Amino acid sequence: MNEYDSDKIRSLLGMELTNDPKKADVVIINTCAIREKADQKAFSSLGRLKHLKFRKPNMILGVGGCVAQLYGERLLENFPHLDIVFGTRTITLLPELISRVEREKRRMVETSFDVEEVFEFEPYHEEGKVTAFVSVQQGCNKMCSYCIVPLVRGQETNRSVEDILRETQKLVQKGVSEITLIGQTVNSWKMGGYKFGDLLKIMAEIEGLFRIRFTTSYPRDVTKKLIDAIREVPKVCHHIHLPVQSGSNRILTKMGRTYTREWYIDILKRIRDAIPDMAITTDIIVGFPGETEEDFNDTMRLLKEVEFDGTFSFKFSPRPGTPAVEFIDIVYDEIASRRLMELQAFQSEITVKKNQSRVGQIEEVLIEGESKNDPSWVTGRTSHNRVVNFLGMIDIRGKLERVIITEGFQNSLRGRLLENNLEVSHVS
Ligand code: SAH
Repeated sequence: MNEYDSDKIRSLLGMELTNDPKKADVVIINTCAIREKADQKAFSSLGRLKHLKFRKPNMILGVGGCVAQLYGERLLENFPHLDIVFGTRTITLLPELISRVEREKRRMVETSFDVEEVFEFEPYHEEGKVTAFVSVQQGCNKMCSYCIVPLVRGQETNRSVEDILRETQKLVQKGVSEITLIGQTVNSWKMGGYKFGDLLKIMAEIEGLFRIRFTTSYPRDVTKKLIDAIREVPKVCHHIHLPVQSGSNRILTKMGRTYTREWYIDILKRIRDAIPDMAITTDIIVGFPGETEEDFNDTMRLLKEVEFDGTFSFKFSPRPGTPAVEFIDIVYDEIASRRLMELQAFQSEITVKKNQSRVGQIEEVLIEGESKNDPSWVTGRTSHNRVVNFLGMIDIRGKLERVIITEGFQNSLRGRLLENNLEVSHVS
C-alpha cells in the first residue's frame, strides 16, 4: 500500500525523479507505522536530512503516510527543518501544499480524513515494469487489538468499479500484464451490488491483462463466490495471502480476529478442495501479550498442519492508541525473539520442501525482467507467486512462458525455458 501511495505521489507531483536528495528541490518521505521499527525509520530519515536542509533552505521537505498521520503537528515541533506534514488521505493535496509553502513561506500540516479523495490521476509507471498495484480500498473496518491501520488510514472506503477499471486500463496500455488489487482487507470490497468475486470477473475481461492477484485477504471475508471466481477465472492467480496471526484460540480472541483456529483450518480446506494447487501464505505475530508456551505451540502445530507456502512473521510491537498497548501481560523480548526464530526456522524447512516439490513440473511464468544478481538470468513468477530464474533472453519480458523447474531453494526456483513444448537449453 505504501509503495502504491509513493507511486501516486510521484505521479501527482509530475517532477523529475532523483535518488539523490542533494539534487532535489522537493524531498518527500513516505512512512509506515505498522511496527515501532517503522516509526523509528521515519524519524531517522528525517533526522538525516537536517544538514541538507540547512545548506539548501529552499529545498522543500515533506513527510507523509502513516507516521505523519499519527503524529501530525508534533512532527513540525520535533523537526524544525520540516516544511510539510500530510496524511494518508491527503496525498492529492500535496501539490497544493508545496506551492503554498513556496508562496506563503510557512509550514503546513494537512492530516484530515474528510478530504474528498480524488482517485483520478495518471498512474505512475516505471518504464518496462510488467506488474503494478491498483488500490481498490482505503482504510479498514476490522478491530484487531494490535493494529494501528484503522487509526492511521481511517474507515474502509471502497473504490468504484469504473475507477478501478480506468486505472487498470491505463496501466495495461503502458505495458503492464499483471495487476495486484490491493486493500487492507481486499476481499471485503463491495460496491453497488458487486462483491469482490464479481470484481475479479469484471477485471478478467480487460484485454491485454494476463494475470490478476489480490492482497491482503481477511479470513472471515472469504466467500464461496470468491473461491468460485478464483477457480473459474483463468487470469486469477492461484495464490491467497490469508493472515492467521496465531494458532491459539485464546490469543485469537484477545487479538479480536473474529475466527477460531478450527474455523480458519476449515476455510483453508474449502479453498484447497476447490483449487487443489492453491498457494497459501500467511502472517503470524509472536509474543502477543499473554502468549504462553502452550499458545505458541498451538501456532507451531498450525504451521505443521497447514504447511503454508510462506509466512511473514513478526514480534508483537505495541502501537499507540491500540487496545493491545494497554495489555500488561507482556512477553519478554528474549522469549518473543526465541519464538520468532524457532517459527522462522520451522517454516523455512516447509518452504524449501514445497519449493523442491515443484522440480520436474512445468510452470507458467510471467517474465518480469533480468535477475537482480545476474543479468544473464531472466526472472519471473509462477501463478503461485514463486520466483523462477532461468537462463534466457530478456525480449520475452511481459510474456507468459512455460518453464520446467529444475531446482528449488528457500526463496526461489530455478528452471529451463520450454519452447513449442520442446526443451531448449540456453546454456552456451
Ligand atoms: N491489513 C493489511 C496490513 C496489515 S500489516 C494486511 O492484512 O496485510 C501486515 C501484518 O503486520 C499483519 O498481518 C500482522 O501480522 C502484522 N502486524 C500488524 N500490527 C502489528 C503489531 N502491532 N505488531 C506486530 N505485528 C503487527
